[in-house]
Amino acid sequence: MSSLIRRPIVEDISTGSDSDYSNSWISWFLSSKGNEYFCEVEEDYILDRFNLTGLNTEVQSYSQALDLITDQLDEDIEDELRGSVEISARFLYGLIHARWIITSRGLAKMLEKYKKADFGRCPRVLCYSQPLLPIGLTDTPYEKAVKLYCPRCEDLYSPKSSRHGSIDGAYFGSTFPHMLFMVYPNMIPSKSTSDGKDDHHHRDRERSDKAPLGVGSVSTVAAATKAERYRPKIFGFHIHEVAKLQRWQDAVRDRQISQLEGLERGD
Ligand SMILES: [Zn+2]
Repeated sequence: MSSLIRRPIVEDISTGSDSDYSNSWISWFLSSKGNEYFCEVEEDYILDRFNLTGLNTEVQSYSQALDLITDQLDEDIEDELRGSVEISARFLYGLIHARWIITSRGLAKMLEKYKKADFGRCPRVLCYSQPLLPIGLTDTPYEKAVKLYCPRCEDLYSPKSSRHGSIDGAYFGSTFPHMLFMVYPNMIPSKSTSDGKDDHHHRDRERSDKAPLGVGSVSTVAAATKAERYRPKIFGFHIHEVAKLQRWQDAVRDRQISQLEGLERGD
């Protein structure tokens, strides 16, 4: 399919140079600015209608949108209609993407992007530039924009760029990052400081071999003891309200740790 046909419609969103143009709609979509969070959904997956069950009722001009994604759309289509099909195709791709990224092949693709920090890094200082993962707060489209999940502080952040900030969270879904760490538990970051990371990592591993209680390869005890928090201070003294709360949280944590240690020892 020639770029001449596509160009008038996509001009406003595409900033890819001519060399970025490839023959397929998917590679064009992925190379368009603002779509960096998306990974490639393999055509085999899209062509298996079972994987798309129910999407026909959610997407307008479903079959034409699907044809466009798979480069089967009749090139003689009117420009006006083409514009609306293009919008539907992006929406449909997003919905398929949400399903695809929780399959094993989809997870593997997203893992590569996570390793390259394609989704950005955690802005929290004590997370030491931990790479983030996209997440939807809901699986229903048109409700919430995509957020970024930090597996280190286990908190959510808004994307820095407004282009990314306006992507529908349903294109990633609420399950994805957690599924990724379930399948790749060794990718769960250590909670300790960056120095001596490897040393801790090994101990986490050793511990988890005996301890089924931890999430993935990280033992709950190891994670809890090492989680690093910021402590507000004035002239070196802990600030009272927060300090009081933290002392109480620490006491609860320490009690939990000794209980968990008991369990992990099998008492
Ligand atoms: Zn973080």
